[in-house]
Amino acid sequence: MSDSVNSTKDLPETGITPGGTTGAFRDVLSKDHARRGKPPLHFADMTEDERIAKAKDLGLPKFRVKQLANHYYGHFDVAAEEFSDFPAAKRAEAAEAFFPTLITEVTRQVADEGTTIKTLWRLFDGSLIESVLMRYPTRTTLCISSQVGCGMGCPFCATGQLGLTRNMSAGEILEQVRVAAKAMHDGEVAGGLGRLSNIVFMGMGEPMGNYKSVLSAVRQISAMPPEGFGISARNITVSTVGVVPGIKKLTAEGIPVRLAVSLHAPSDELRDELVPMNKRFNTTQVLDAAHDYYLASKRRVSIEYALMRGINDQAEHAKLLAKRLNHYGDNWAHVNPIPLNPIEGSKWTASKPEDEQQFLDILHKAGITATLRDTRGQDIDGACGQLAAKEQD
Ligand code: SAH
Ligand code: SF4
Repeated sequence: MSDSVNSTKDLPETGITPGGTTGAFRDVLSKDHARRGKPPLHFADMTEDERIAKAKDLGLPKFRVKQLANHYYGHFDVAAEEFSDFPAAKRAEAAEAFFPTLITEVTRQVADEGTTIKTLWRLFDGSLIESVLMRYPTRTTLCISSQVGCGMGCPFCATGQLGLTRNMSAGEILEQVRVAAKAMHDGEVAGGLGRLSNIVFMGMGEPMGNYKSVLSAVRQISAMPPEGFGISARNITVSTVGVVPGIKKLTAEGIPVRLAVSLHAPSDELRDELVPMNKRFNTTQVLDAAHDYYLASKRRVSIEYALMRGINDQAEHAKLLAKRLNHYGDNWAHVNPIPLNPIEGSKWTASKPEDEQQFLDILHKAGITATLRDTRGQDIDGACGQLAAKEQD
C-alpha cells in the first residue's frame, strides 16, 4: 500500500473522507455518527498472529486455525456442529470466540421469480444495512454495503439521505458475502445449486470512505481458500463517487478489481449540483485518476451515469461526455447509464425512453461502449440507490 496518500493511516477510521470536515465538501453525518462502538472482533478481522494467539488462549494449537479457515472460507461454515474435525469439547467455544454473529437477517424480499433477493440485516448495535443478490443465467452477483448510511450526500440517492452512521468492519462486510455464497452453494436460491461469482460494492456506503476494511474484504473475497472465498478479483467491482485519494491508493495496490466511477454529469457545473463531492475532487481530477487506474490495471473503468430526466440526459450531455472520455484515448472506459430509480422526496425522475436511447446512440457513434444498467429489484427497492434500510414493521 502506498503510504504517501494515506497520511491519516494511524487514526481510527471514522468514515470521514479526505477534506470531509473542512472546505467546499463536508461529509453528511447522521445524528449518531460514530457513537456506537466497535463490532465484535471476527476471524475475518484478525491477522494470522491474532488468530493463533486467540487459539492459544483457548488451548488450541496453531493447526486448528487452519481448520477454522477451511470451514469459513472453503465451506462458508461458522456453526460449531459443522466443525467435525475439531475436538467436540472445543467446538462451541471456538465458534463463539472466532465467529461472533455480526449480521442478523431482519427481512428478506424476493422478486424476479426468486432470482433477486434483498436482505435487510441488523448489526450488533442495531444498525441496519442491506445487500441484494441477483442471479442471472451465467453469473450471480451480490451487491454489498460497506458503511452504515453514507456521508456523501448525493441528493438523488436514498442512502445519501441517511447520512453516515459508521464504517462497517471487514467482518461485517465479508459476512454478507459468506451468507450469500453459502445460500448459492446449498441450492437455496431459485435455480438450484450454484456459485456466487460476482461482487459489487454498490450497496450502502462509499467504499473509499472505509478504505481499510473494504480492501481487507476485497482480499478475503478474492484469495483462494483457505485464505479467502476464491471469487476472482476480476469479478469484484468497487464503485466510488470519485474520492481521488482512494482511487490512487487502489491503483497502487495492483489488485485487478474493476473500478466504477459514479460520474453522472460531464461538466463541473452540473456535477457540482448532483454530486457534492465534486466540489472537493472535480471531473478532471476524477477522470484523470480513473484513466490512471486503467493504465495501471489494464482493466476498463466503468463510468456510472444515472440518467435524470431533463437534467443530465440530453444530447449535449452525451456529446460532452463522449468528448471528455475520448480525450484520454479509445476503449478505456465503458459507460453504464442507469435509469434513475426515483426515491421518495426527490424531485428527479427517470429519463424518457427516447432520451435514454438517444444518449446511448450518441456514445456509440462516438466509439464508446455503453450499456443500459438493468434495474432488477426495482419493485422491492433493491435497485441501486434505493438501499435506505427502512425497517418494515
Ligand atoms: N457510493 C458509491 C457506491 C454505492 S452507490 C457510489 O456512489 O459509487 C452505487 C451506484 O448507484 C452509484 O453509481 C450511484 O450513483 C447509483 N445511484 C445512487 N442513487 C441512485 C438512484 N436513485 N438511481 C439510480 N442509481 C443510483
Ligand atoms: Fe453515497 Fe454513493 Fe449514494 Fe452518493 S450515490 S450518497 S456516494 S451511496
